[in-house]
Amino acid sequence: MTSHKSLGALRMADGLFFCDSWFLPGEGPFTVLAKLAIANVLNANRICRVFGVRSTPTRDASPHGRSLLHLEWLARSRSAPLLAAKLWSRSLLSLSPRWGQSVASDRALRYCPTCLSMGYQSSLCQIEGLVRCPQHNDLLLDHCKKCNAPTPPYAVTAEAFDEPLVCIYCGNAYAPIWASVRGDLFQKQVDDESAYCHLGEWFGRVETLNIQWPDSVAWLADPRAPAQAAKANKRIQMLVTLSNIVTWTEPAALRRSEVWVGRWPLSSGAPQTHARSGADLDEITRARVAIYKSIRRHHATRIGMKVQSHIKGDRERLIEINEGMVMPCNEHVNPVAHGFLAWRLRFESKVGEEGRTRGLSLFSVLLFWPVDWSASDVAWGHFVYRCLLLDIKTALELNKSLKGLDCNRPSDFSAWLEVVGLWYHRFGSQTRPWPDSLSTLRLPAAVGEPGDICIITAPSATLSLGTRNEC
Ligand SMILES: [Zn+2]
Ligand SMILES: [Zn+2]
Repeated sequence: MTSHKSLGALRMADGLFFCDSWFLPGEGPFTVLAKLAIANVLNANRICRVFGVRSTPTRDASPHGRSLLHLEWLARSRSAPLLAAKLWSRSLLSLSPRWGQSVASDRALRYCPTCLSMGYQSSLCQIEGLVRCPQHNDLLLDHCKKCNAPTPPYAVTAEAFDEPLVCIYCGNAYAPIWASVRGDLFQKQVDDESAYCHLGEWFGRVETLNIQWPDSVAWLADPRAPAQAAKANKRIQMLVTLSNIVTWTEPAALRRSEVWVGRWPLSSGAPQTHARSGADLDEITRARVAIYKSIRRHHATRIGMKVQSHIKGDRERLIEINEGMVMPCNEHVNPVAHGFLAWRLRFESKVGEEGRTRGLSLFSVLLFWPVDWSASDVAWGHFVYRCLLLDIKTALELNKSLKGLDCNRPSDFSAWLEVVGLWYHRFGSQTRPWPDSLSTLRLPAAVGEPGDICIITAPSATLSLGTRNEC
């Protein structure tokens, strides 16, 4: 070990040397643990032994078994309780137990080069929707600047801690301070970390807001999209959405995303179908069917289609798949018209049959959206309209995937079927009644008030990635 002078004011805890200055307010557990490892000559295995846990070989688990985002494995330490508690308090999950897991990942260490050159990494850099350091505006990196190789997982692994913050591929340190002159490491400090503190406070505000988001699990969770990409996309859109709901002080640090959030006061905290008489439900049905029809009429005119009761025909261009969903035979079917038809099939039950509302009857789960609470008809109209925009957008993407394929050509049929099989559920309601990209949450208000409802739409992984590498 280098001289104690260069290590700063070292103290002992749990039989290990540590220094109070390593525990700056915003410093994350990765660099603190790296300093502990260097000062006490520990590798990844010995770190695990210190905390009384076995090192884990599971590289691809998510979260990683020795994750530094999810420090539960460390919090139970009996052999080094003081240091375990100090490290736990550095973790993102201690800052935001509810949202930390939803927005951050331990897939790879993410760092700001300027912060790291001062021996520092914040756990907030693991938030995937953050592209720049809020303090220095540097792009956050998840690779070695010298050789471009990926950084290790944000976890206690041999590649991360046997030689901390040094690239295992080229041997260069991610920042000079982490190179062989170890003594310097402990002398430098971050000059100002107020931006990280503001970000931490912002998380605190989001955490106390008590957002009710029952639909968040199914949101952006397209089962046919590549799983890792879909999860990463969701973490990004989650942060952008939260920053839309609670004002964010550093918008330049955020990844750009076309998230749309609409907000309306709820009419009641109870479901629309509860505590109402049959006459009330009839009234809601009449109003909503009229809203639906006006949106339908307007768009049919724009597209140049007739609103006719039977919409599944036209076998030349559209193939009916089970449960009434139609898919285009080839790329020459107007995708806007296809999206419009798919939207109608999503909403309209008994298509072509005589119902009690002059032939038009809407599926009740959509008619009484938002299901868990009661929203105004205005909010419902926006919900219906956003579903239409998303179905048209999805149809435009499907159209690109069908390029050159025609199901009426025998040589194309199996390839056509493969594409359609991949896209079919994105229009229908087998997985959920409304499109994958749309979700709804509730912001509770003062006691006695029902609060507000937010409709959110965000780009799904499918639409931003196209169809390649899907399985
Ligand atoms: Zn920085
Ligand atoms: Zn390298």
